[in-house]
Amino acid sequence: MKIFTFDTTLRDGTQGESVSFSVDDKLIIAQKLDELGIDYIEGGWPGSNPKDKEFFTRAAQELKLSHARLTAFGSTRFAKNRVDQDRNVQALVESGTPAISIFGKSWDFHVKRALGITLEENLKIIAETVRYLKDHGKEVIYDAEHFFDGYTANRDYALNTLEAARSAGADVLCLCDTNGGTLTGRLTEIFADVRNQFDGVLGIHTHNDSDVAVANAVAAVEHGATHVQGCMNGYGERCGNANLCSIIANLELKLGHTTVGPEKLTSLTSVARFIAELANLPMRNDQPFVGHSAFAHKGGVHVSAVLKDSATYEHVTPEAVGNRQRVLVSDLSGRGNVLYKLKQHGLSDRLSEDARRELLERIKQMEYLGYELEAAEGTFELLVREALHPGLKFFDVESYEVATRMSGQGSHSVATVNIRAQDGAHSATATGHGPMNALDLGLRKCLSQLYPRISDVRLTDYKVRVLDSKKGTAAKVRVLVEWTDHRKSWSTVGVSDNVIEASWNALLDAIKLELMRLTEHDVTVEKAVEDYCWGV
Ligand SMILES: [Zn+2]
Repeated sequence: MKIFTFDTTLRDGTQGESVSFSVDDKLIIAQKLDELGIDYIEGGWPGSNPKDKEFFTRAAQELKLSHARLTAFGSTRFAKNRVDQDRNVQALVESGTPAISIFGKSWDFHVKRALGITLEENLKIIAETVRYLKDHGKEVIYDAEHFFDGYTANRDYALNTLEAARSAGADVLCLCDTNGGTLTGRLTEIFADVRNQFDGVLGIHTHNDSDVAVANAVAAVEHGATHVQGCMNGYGERCGNANLCSIIANLELKLGHTTVGPEKLTSLTSVARFIAELANLPMRNDQPFVGHSAFAHKGGVHVSAVLKDSATYEHVTPEAVGNRQRVLVSDLSGRGNVLYKLKQHGLSDRLSEDARRELLERIKQMEYLGYELEAAEGTFELLVREALHPGLKFFDVESYEVATRMSGQGSHSVATVNIRAQDGAHSATATGHGPMNALDLGLRKCLSQLYPRISDVRLTDYKVRVLDSKKGTAAKVRVLVEWTDHRKSWSTVGVSDNVIEASWNALLDAIKLELMRLTEHDVTVEKAVEDYCWGV
C-alpha cells in the first residue's frame, strides 16, 4: 500500500537543540528530500520568523521540486482574530505552497489553560481555519496537537476536534504525540478507535521522549495510518522526532508498503549523511539502517558467519538502503581476517611474505600504542598501500613549528613547515584558525606546486581522546581526524603524549593518502579497503 511520507526536518527538526540551518541549507535539503521521493516537505512556519518567511519566498522562485509538495506550517487562528485578518493564517496563504499543515488543540486541558477559551470556541477556531485554507485551494493537513493525551483526558472532546477539522474539509487528520510520552500499546489502541470513527487519510506524528517514536509510527501504519511524519536522522525538539529514515526502511522492507519505492530507497543512506553534514552534526554511527556501524561486524564468530552468508547477522541487506557491510579490523575479529580479505581481492599475492608479516606487525604495534584502526579507515588504507608500494615516498618532513598568539582580537596560529620532496626543499608559513588548521595549510602550501590537486580534501571533524587519564595533562592522547572530498569521508589517527604531534601524525597520514590516491589509482586496493572500512 502507498504510505505518504511527510518530512518535517526543516520545521520540527530545527527545534532540536544543536540543529540550525541557513536558508541556503534548507533549500538544498528540500531538493535532496525531493530526489529521495518524499511526498511532503514541511519547510517552516512563515508566521513565526523572518528566516522561514524568506525560505518560502526563495523556494517559490528557486526550488524545482519534481515530486514533493512543499508545505507551510502554522497554527489555527488566534482566538481574538477573525480568520481573514489573522496574520499567521495570512502568512500561510501567502507562502504559496500547495499544502498547508496547521495544528490545533485536541486536549481540553490545553484549551482551557493555555488558550483560556471555551471548548466550543476551540472547535469553531479549528473549523474556520481549515475551511478558510480549503477555500484558498490548499491541501490541508490538520495536526491534532497532544491528541493522545487529549484522548486520554477526554475522549469525546478529542474526537470532536477531529470532526471539526474533517467536516471543514481537512484532507489529512494527523494524530500527534506531541509530548512523546505515549507507549506503543496505548497508542495503537487509540489509533484503532479513531480509525473506526473516521474514513479518509489518517496521519501519525510522534516524538521520541519514550524512545519509541519509530515503533509508534510504524504501529500506527499497521493500524490504518497512510500518512506518516518524521525527521531525517530523528532530529527534533528534546529527544527528537520519529526518525524518518528508519520509518521508511521499516515500511518498505519489513511491511511491504511503498513510500519512496525500492529504487530511491537505495539513496537513503547518502541523503541521511548529506543532511547530517549540512546540519554540521556527526552522524550517529549506531543509527539503524544508515549509520556507519549499522552493518559492521567485529566479533570473530559474527565475522566468519557473515563472510559465509550475510543473512546470519543482518536483518536486511545493507545495499537496500544504500549502506554497506563492514568487517572491522580489530583484535576481536582476528588479524587473519585482514589477510583473508586481501586474498579474496587478489591482493595477498601482490604482497611478499615479508611485506605481509610486516603489515600485520605494524597493525599490532599501532593498536598496542593506542591507535584505533577500525575508526581510522584512512590510516588503515595508507598502511595497505604502503605495504603494496614499499618504495613509494612522497616527501620527508624536516621540521615544523607552530605558535598560537593571543591578542585583543582573539587568538590565531601560525605554522612553518619544512619538507624535502623529489624536486628539492620546500618551506611555507601559513596562518590558520588554531594550530591544526595552520599546519594543514602550511603543509599543503609546500606540496601545492608539485601536486596542484592536493587541496580538494577538507577536514570535517576533529576528536581528541585521552588514553591514560591518570597522568593529567601529561597523558597520551589519540587524535582522530575526519576528512571528506565531498563524495566520501574517511578518518586518520595519530597518537602521542603531545596533542600537536598526535594531530600532525593524523594530518600526515591524510596528506600521504591523498597523494597515493592522486598518483596511484589502485581500484582493487580501494575495493578491499572499502569492504573493511568504508560506509558510503
Ligand atoms: Zn512535533
